[in-house]
Amino acid sequence: MSAGPRSLNTAILDGAATAARVREDVAADVKRFAARHGWAPGLATVLVGEDPASAIYVASKRRLCVEAGMSDHHRKLPADAGQEEVERVLRELGADPAVSGILLQLPVPEHLDVQALLACIPEGKDVDGLTTASAGLLAQNRQGLRPCTPSGVIELLDTYRVPLEGRHAVVVGRSELVGKPMSQLLLARHATVTVCHSRTADLQTHCRSADVLVAAAGVPRLIGAAHVKPGAVVIDVGIHRTDDGLCGGVGPMTIAMLLRNTLQAATRQADG
Ligand code: NAD
Repeated sequence: MSAGPRSLNTAILDGAATAARVREDVAADVKRFAARHGWAPGLATVLVGEDPASAIYVASKRRLCVEAGMSDHHRKLPADAGQEEVERVLRELGADPAVSGILLQLPVPEHLDVQALLACIPEGKDVDGLTTASAGLLAQNRQGLRPCTPSGVIELLDTYRVPLEGRHAVVVGRSELVGKPMSQLLLARHATVTVCHSRTADLQTHCRSADVLVAAAGVPRLIGAAHVKPGAVVIDVGIHRTDDGLCGGVGPMTIAMLLRNTLQAATRQADG
């Protein structure tokens, strides 16, 4: 996502600039929080194993957390760490008052039961918004921590004042991480939402009727010009490396929302 108009009729939503603005806002609020409470919000990242992409993501999250004035509580476990060991670390972090938010970097090695691990994260510290408790709060449109990637998409749409109420939003993808929470957040903003997935018949017709189209299928170039109604707003959530470089991606927004969630979690904890 780069800045600036592409042609007279096309404009790009600038995810990097929006993410930088969100991070600045969070940093200012963290300063006020620390002045008021005498401590700064803390983010715990838990990385199990050696997956190189995960290591890069976690390093970025930690760096930007410190840049926003928050404390960094990183735990690194070996790829062969057992279920009990990882659960114990998550419970310790859950009980640590200096830790406002806990992020278990996914995917974890296959021998681990990811749902049982997520269940060790208290709902109030679930800054990735992926526990069953957080998903339930979202499904019922009650206050809670929301998954970072879809809430980053909403923030981006709001920044560019894209109207959602009464508009037709089409989400391609129904994963627990992106597609499903994305559709629920759009619904909470009073959009009329269609969710498409791998078994959807005639994807193109659905997409072409969208005022707002969010592509999160994990299939590069699945959505082409023929899928887009003139004037529609399109958000490409996918991150793909192709011969021409990276395509798609709202990556910077995801981390910015993680920082905001951590501040929100700390505020709730401080206010009791
Ligand atoms: P996933 O593989 O869990 O889910 C993909 C979804 O797309 C599924 O629900 C599937 O039904 C649907 N789908 C697959 N093929 C389809 C097709 N041909 N037509 C219609 N629907 C189809 O992936 P995910 O975790 O939801 O991630 C989706 C994309 O978002 C990936 O490219 C991922 O890299 C990216 N992602 C980006 C960020 C970020 O920070 N920007 C974060 C998470 C995921």
